[in-house]
Amino acid sequence: MTDKREAVKKLFTAKSSRVETNKGDVYYQRLYAQCKKRIEALKTLEPFGNKLELQDLLSEEGVDRRDFMKWVSATTAMLMLPSFFEPLVAEAAEVMNRVPVIWIELQDCAGNSEAFIRSDGPKVDEIILEIISLEFQETLMAAAGHQAEAQLHDAVETFKGKYLLFVEGSIPTAMNGFYGTIGPSGETFEEHLTRLSKDAAAIVAVGSCATFGGVPAAAPNPTGAKGVMDIVKGKPIINIPACPANPANMVGVILHYVLTGQIPELDSLLRPKFAFGYRIHDNCERRAHFDAGEFVEEWGDEGAKNNFCLYKMGCKGPMTFNNCSIVRYNEGVNWPIGVGRGCIGCSEPDFWDKYAYERPMADANIKAPTGGVEKTVDEFGLGVLTATAVGIGIHAAASALAGKKSDEGEK
Ligand code: SF4
Ligand code: SF4
Repeated sequence: MTDKREAVKKLFTAKSSRVETNKGDVYYQRLYAQCKKRIEALKTLEPFGNKLELQDLLSEEGVDRRDFMKWVSATTAMLMLPSFFEPLVAEAAEVMNRVPVIWIELQDCAGNSEAFIRSDGPKVDEIILEIISLEFQETLMAAAGHQAEAQLHDAVETFKGKYLLFVEGSIPTAMNGFYGTIGPSGETFEEHLTRLSKDAAAIVAVGSCATFGGVPAAAPNPTGAKGVMDIVKGKPIINIPACPANPANMVGVILHYVLTGQIPELDSLLRPKFAFGYRIHDNCERRAHFDAGEFVEEWGDEGAKNNFCLYKMGCKGPMTFNNCSIVRYNEGVNWPIGVGRGCIGCSEPDFWDKYAYERPMADANIKAPTGGVEKTVDEFGLGVLTATAVGIGIHAAASALAGKKSDEGEK
């Protein structure tokens, strides 16, 4: 048992990812020069549709320069850039409205739009999203019917090859796609997506449905729901999964594109490494309790009152890559594990079938994700994931046993 426990400990203390956070001075100096040139070029352009100025919006919302610079500093770190990029990140935030965005909704609940527009006491992330040049967004814009069609047509024609296409929702493919149609011509969601992808500079799939099919793709998947990357080929695609996707990560992706003119470094599931390079478990505030073998055993017990680890209540943090343990939700106030609910792996493929139940992974008669998983997802690897699923069960059991013995000893 000791050997196994040691092996499991090794697995769980190993760096889960090999995200290269320092690429060397030469690389960053070159990148800095490239970004500077790009920002200067963007400054010479007129803002597209959105003429709002960031500084005006910040003061309207009562965000002072100091708070803005704190956000700049945190965002620079989130993007894994050295601190001397901070002035450039601040300038990039001010020219966000020079990059047009077209946002379409397919088979979804609009939860990502909801997260995107949240405006109660907005943080800088949300204010930044207000100044992006959102040329088309069905849920938010006033136009409807033929007017909306015309607006979309104009946006695509005007910004051909330049716009970022944000896609929310999965794509139903069963019954020739007729589970989801849009517009007077009855264009299927698949046709709609394919047509609008053609002239996009890059496509950003937002939320679990657009990335991996999400809840609509859960068994038995009656509509044949798929994610964007299963439909669109030959275009850069960035996946920002989670249910909903975190606005901080949406801002991060747009900002990275404004700053560098390129899409961020991605993992094998096309997720930006700056946001999805680490497991929830790596940065979880309850991690010390996991390592000490202190678990919540049932809802409302002493462990729950003491914020012990939620693994035995089904937390899938050890298998889930996302930055919500750091960035958090609701204006950074809290996140699921912070309020006592285990992670259900919403940023992983097929999460509803594979992770969203209240049992530890090791007790479930299922396999860790297959296909497309190389390392970390990249370095971490399928073999390790599977071993982990079993190993963590051993660790949990062994820790519980050790805890019980010491309790008995104390009595
Ligand atoms: S609560 Fe979940 S993510 Fe946090 S330490 Fe426990 S198992 Fe890991
Ligand atoms: S804690 Fe897990 S389930 Fe919750 S939002 Fe983050 S990745 Fe999704």
